[in-house]
Amino acid sequence: MEYIRKQRWANYLSPKCKEYLRNDFSHECAYCKLQEQEVGIVGLDFFEIDHFKPQSLNLPDTHKYHNLYYSCEKCNNEKSDIWDTKLLDPCTDDIFSGINPAIIGGKKENHYKYIAKNDRGTFYINTFKLNSRTQIRFRKARENHENSLHTINTLIDEILLKFQHNAELHDLKDLIFQLDNLRHLKQQELDKLPKDEMFEKAEEYLNDKGIENSLVFEEYNIDFKMKFNGSTYYCELLVDNSLEEKTEYRKNISVEKLTTWFEKLNSNFGILFYYPRINRMYFYPVSNNMTLPEITDGKKIRQIKINDKCLL
Ligand SMILES: [Zn+2]
Repeated sequence: MEYIRKQRWANYLSPKCKEYLRNDFSHECAYCKLQEQEVGIVGLDFFEIDHFKPQSLNLPDTHKYHNLYYSCEKCNNEKSDIWDTKLLDPCTDDIFSGINPAIIGGKKENHYKYIAKNDRGTFYINTFKLNSRTQIRFRKARENHENSLHTINTLIDEILLKFQHNAELHDLKDLIFQLDNLRHLKQQELDKLPKDEMFEKAEEYLNDKGIENSLVFEEYNIDFKMKFNGSTYYCELLVDNSLEEKTEYRKNISVEKLTTWFEKLNSNFGILFYYPRINRMYFYPVSNNMTLPEITDGKKIRQIKINDKCLL
């Protein structure tokens, strides 16, 4: 399989859905592997939410998160309403990787063409037109980029090894270390991709208040990790676009979600409740206010009442 899906309580209409998908699918198209960085500044807009089993089938689960895939505009259009059980699923089948990939090639030695190993591979290549000129151009550019990076890495490793025992060349050594640091910045490139506006604003709010935080996109709708009163909390972000603050806010949290949080998160957790239009954010530390037995002990708490919230 190409991707491991995370568990999320989201669906097609959830405002956070696309941001969850792009993170769970590593900022690339689930079908053709085109990366956001490869389409430049328009990256985010060129990617869409695809229904794996198309909406035209009218299935009850069609808008549920597990049926939604991050897809480039091109693949989403090519796939359209096509449905066939032959279609390989990037979340369950070995397509380009794994023990028995259905599709191989795509490298220089095959002139960047993909080669199907079975019927399903052929069907997949044809559905997404993976051997089209555009797709081949992208694969060629990607391989060239990866090769240059590989060459740079090998060279730096060699040079570092030579300098290890030679103290006289100290200045040059510093320079090489700077280069070495530079190549490790690659991972941080992902952080620089534009995020959904609501996450950017929430991040900004927390930074302005001097609250240590990071956007994590962990499983189970955990969006932020943040320090509060000396403890670290994992938080879900909820946004209310009202122009006025509600005097009392009730948020339904399903028993399933609460028990999952208690059972799976070995940490404090809570909810960040944010009014972007009036620029106010509250924190509700859920784990401080209830325990697992309270939920599972037949009481079935379906609502948590956010009244002892803290204004951040
Ligand atoms: Zn694609």
